[in-house]
Amino acid sequence: MIPDDIIEQVRESADLVGIIGEHVELKRTGADYRGPCPFHGGTHRNFAVIPKKGMFYCFVCHEAGDVYTFFMKKLGMDYPTAVREVARRVGITIPERSGPTGPDPREPLYAAVATAADWFARQLRESPEAEIARKYLESRHVTMEQAQVQGLGFGPRGSGLLDAMKGLGLREEVLLEAGLVVKREDGSKVPRFRGRLLFPIHDLRSRIVAFSGRILGEGEPKYLNSPETPIFHKGQLLYNLHLAKHGMRKAERAILVEGQFDVLRLTLTGLEEVVAPLGTGLTDDQAALLQRHTPHVILLYDSDDPGLRATFRAGDVLLRHKLRVSVATLPEGEDPDTLVQNKGAVALERVLKDSVDILERKIQILTRRGYFGSLPGRRRALDALLPTIRATHDAVARDLYLATVAEAAGIRKETLEEEVRGRMEPPPLKTTAAPQVAQSGPVSRIEKSLLLVMLSGDEWKSRVLAEVDRENFASDVYRAVFDALAEDRPERLDEVSARTLEDLQATGLGGASADELFAWALNNIEADRKSREIARLQREIDLASEDDKVRLTLEKRALTDERNAKRPTWKVLESARRKGAPGS
Ligand SMILES: [Zn+2]
Repeated sequence: MIPDDIIEQVRESADLVGIIGEHVELKRTGADYRGPCPFHGGTHRNFAVIPKKGMFYCFVCHEAGDVYTFFMKKLGMDYPTAVREVARRVGITIPERSGPTGPDPREPLYAAVATAADWFARQLRESPEAEIARKYLESRHVTMEQAQVQGLGFGPRGSGLLDAMKGLGLREEVLLEAGLVVKREDGSKVPRFRGRLLFPIHDLRSRIVAFSGRILGEGEPKYLNSPETPIFHKGQLLYNLHLAKHGMRKAERAILVEGQFDVLRLTLTGLEEVVAPLGTGLTDDQAALLQRHTPHVILLYDSDDPGLRATFRAGDVLLRHKLRVSVATLPEGEDPDTLVQNKGAVALERVLKDSVDILERKIQILTRRGYFGSLPGRRRALDALLPTIRATHDAVARDLYLATVAEAAGIRKETLEEEVRGRMEPPPLKTTAAPQVAQSGPVSRIEKSLLLVMLSGDEWKSRVLAEVDRENFASDVYRAVFDALAEDRPERLDEVSARTLEDLQATGLGGASADELFAWALNNIEADRKSREIARLQREIDLASEDDKVRLTLEKRALTDERNAKRPTWKVLESARRKGAPGS
């Protein structure tokens, strides 16, 4: 196998316009080049070469790809041959194969995902069922032409994908492994993305490895990603990084937004350096990835409270990786998408230009909310600022931050330094959350189990969502995590809940079966409901007349038996043990 970075280096050095120009007569139109399509043999200039994106695209037959794909499609080369051919032209030497080599075993997965991407894109253009997706794009002011260049697609509800892929000779196991198809409990297989607008997700080699599907109309979750597969690790990729990395190097900055649509809108205004995490909070791997391409990240998230929390969480992750972090503040009620639509690219440019350093932004917000006005307020303000200082791993930036915060809070820098050094462990849980979790021992165990089951796979998540709702969660923190999982928006969690989610993810099922855990939790929820009912009956009994007392007591006894069948109480277990029953 040829190393990734060499493939990358070769692609970047290739003169795409020159190479394709040998086969097609290209003329410049704006930033792109147009010519007759060599694939469908057109005579009009429907074939575009877009050097900024390193890709070509035909608006008639929809052939698309990069310099390697061009050789593969036009001259029938395989991937390694295409890479070697381009390398030869740009004068880069590719080390000869050494040791045992063979084709990449993941090749069939790449092929399956690429084939599916073509098929999804065709559905978006042609399928009557995709009218809802086309209407949706229209409502978001995205033209079909723009959608096509971005490679957007549509996943219909039926089994069309399966039939089409099998018709092309793709095996079911490969479709499963590539995350395109899911297996139901009864063994039947259905496409993963049903009734969704699909955004292709590329790896750094610009190969499509996964999709993110936005629901159209009613349904949950709003965004559904491909599962982790041998070719897709979502914590290690960023949406649009394959294109944005070129722009980042030129602009010496990255713009981090929340979702795919924000990326789409911003890139349509001509900004190249835009990326988004993939439906999760920003991970350390993603921050490290950014750090390889740019020294500076501007966070452009919504300005509401959840948006701010997501901003500061992402900010801390970036600071740990020694990135300079700024926050751009959108006008009240706007997201990047609406801002550009309503006020144009100029307004966006102003917002980016006015971005301020993340610590300063925090101080601004705390000042505006009056925190520095009183002594207890200053203490709380400090607690809010300390995590940012602690997250800052760059020594110079950290020193600067210490000075800034000391001044803002009116304390000596040395005192602050001690404070920062003294408590390197995470700050204690906020009072609103901690006692409740602590008090509700058995209850929180049920809630925790439900969340663990939800985290064990999308099918499980849907099953939990079908049986349980947020009212079943007494703990604020667990309820917040439940909501975030239900909406597929974990990046919006506050600090405490986000840490709880991370803990749960780290815990996992720990060998337990999701099936058993789920049944246990449901039983206990039902038992709790009955317990509350029993307590209510007891209160009635205390106040009832003698006649009613008998009736109510019988009712209570029946209910108690039902409850105990659901959940053997401590006493039942105890008497069972005395009788010599196994287990403890
Ligand atoms: Zn064509």
